[in-house]
Amino acid sequence: MSEPTGASNFIREIVAADLAAGKHGGRVVTRFPPEPNGYLHIGHAKSICLNFGLAHDTPGGICHLRFDDTNPTTEDPEYVQAIQDDVRWLGFDWQDKMFFASDYFEQLYDIAVRLIRKGKAYVDTLTVEEMRAYRGTLMEPGENSPSRDRSIEENLDLFRAMRAGEFADGTHVLRAKIDMASPNINLRDPVLYRIRHATHYRTGSTWRLYPAYDYAHPLSDAIEGITHSICTLEFEDHRPLYNWVVEQAEAPHQPQQIEFARLNLTYTVLSKRKLLESVEKKLVSGWDDPRLPTIKGLRRRGYTPEAIRAFCDHIGVAKREAIVEMQLLEHFVREDLNKRAPRVMAVLRPLKIILDNYPDDQPEELEAVNNPEDSSAGTRKVPFSRVLYIEQDDFREDPPKQFFRLAPGREVRLRYAYIIKCVGVTKDPQTGEVTELHCTYDPTTKSGASQEQRKVKATIHWVSAAHAVKAEVRLYNPLLVMDLTKMPPDHDWTTYLNPNSLEQITGCLVEPSLRQTVPGTRYQFERLGYFCTDTDSASGALIFNRTVPLKDAWAKIEKAQPPR
Ligand code: ATP
Ligand code: MG
Repeated sequence: MSEPTGASNFIREIVAADLAAGKHGGRVVTRFPPEPNGYLHIGHAKSICLNFGLAHDTPGGICHLRFDDTNPTTEDPEYVQAIQDDVRWLGFDWQDKMFFASDYFEQLYDIAVRLIRKGKAYVDTLTVEEMRAYRGTLMEPGENSPSRDRSIEENLDLFRAMRAGEFADGTHVLRAKIDMASPNINLRDPVLYRIRHATHYRTGSTWRLYPAYDYAHPLSDAIEGITHSICTLEFEDHRPLYNWVVEQAEAPHQPQQIEFARLNLTYTVLSKRKLLESVEKKLVSGWDDPRLPTIKGLRRRGYTPEAIRAFCDHIGVAKREAIVEMQLLEHFVREDLNKRAPRVMAVLRPLKIILDNYPDDQPEELEAVNNPEDSSAGTRKVPFSRVLYIEQDDFREDPPKQFFRLAPGREVRLRYAYIIKCVGVTKDPQTGEVTELHCTYDPTTKSGASQEQRKVKATIHWVSAAHAVKAEVRLYNPLLVMDLTKMPPDHDWTTYLNPNSLEQITGCLVEPSLRQTVPGTRYQFERLGYFCTDTDSASGALIFNRTVPLKDAWAKIEKAQPPR
């Protein structure tokens, strides 16, 4: 990418003003700091677009990719790789600026020793419960721990012993010495280090104590010379602590923390914990399940990076929490695929039609336009013959008002082909179900022929029975039946999973040009929506995911009518 990537927002304004004022030495260095404890989701995409976009659009700007890997029990190299793939797939580049907070463990330890020497940190021996009791409440100040007055020497000894692994988990912590009476609870001597006898995926068993987020994060920013440390709103109350840590560490650079509202989407989950739960409990097929709002899931479903970036740009960046409609995300992928996806014909629920007056042995090749939005996409040949399949939905024996498609005695146009008329309906004698239609075609109405004698009210899609290829199609519906924000907080969110989030349709028929399709290819199935060849698809066993339906005028009318 070289053109500017993002619309203006309050953070871009702050950065522009800082640049104009020569703050931070006239530099802009941002970072995207994921913890490698899960896959990235569309919320992370917002942060990625913001951080990388800002650096990209500022001359000399750079954005680091930093793995915030200070928690040994949840992190995994699988996630480190997946995160890199996803950031790249979204179209961003960290150049050679990939860092790991775990690479700073030694420096962070040294800084902690310095804080102890300055009398700004102490080892506490209170239990977790005692610490909670001493902390006070929003209404009442906390109380000093009895350990607070330990001598510097004793603190240094204890901290060294913590590092050496001489104590069990939970027996001691290192705390900042700030103010137990501060109205901001984050400043009531927050924990800087905890003992954890755990193996870290990068540092192995070197460390027996691990830094807290509120300590490691600001220092990682300072070490890397980050100028603008952009994070989500829940860290606003942590900003005084962020500044305290950077100041006390006497870091050469003072990064500036700026908070923005995280992205929330309707009818889905945007929390790594819940996403992990859905994967571990096999509520979905994996991190790339197309129902999930993960980058991998969206990608498998057929989303493009351009659509995701345009969505992130559109929703903007603000200070106020809001919940964004899923339909907005769908709008952006529809817009993007409309421009680029080749059109093909596919029938999801086939109904056989026989053209009684069409010669049995004379299939023809009809010319079809690949993309009316893009003349460079050209045309292709689609075989047409006496026996065809159309969509069951495109026929009604007893058509309701405003239903203009095929019905007994009615005419419709077959896309790229002829006008046909329904002259007979065959039914299963037992069930009464329509099994096939007899139609006639009018050879004078071939599509593209200049004279259009008759107007018909509908054009429907079709495939030729002798040429079509079998396929499975997967339709996706919202993951949840209710927004999590409306759910009582004590409820198990998994009970709100939509039992119909996945509809697998087998026995679909697609036009023969799709025979050799490869996973990841996107199409518009005419009149149905945008689809993408699934990663499980193979020649002879085609599988397509519906990315998003087209807007369906009839479905809207039907929905608006009271049920019969
Ligand atoms: P989750 O809440 O899903 O567990 P997290 O914040 O714990 O996410 P991190 O790996 O720490 O996940 O996130 C990396 C960056 O992405 C952070 O800067 C975080 O603020 C940002 N981020 C995470 N979720 C969202 C979201 N929904 N909207 C915007 N930014 C987000
Ligand atoms: Mg986080």
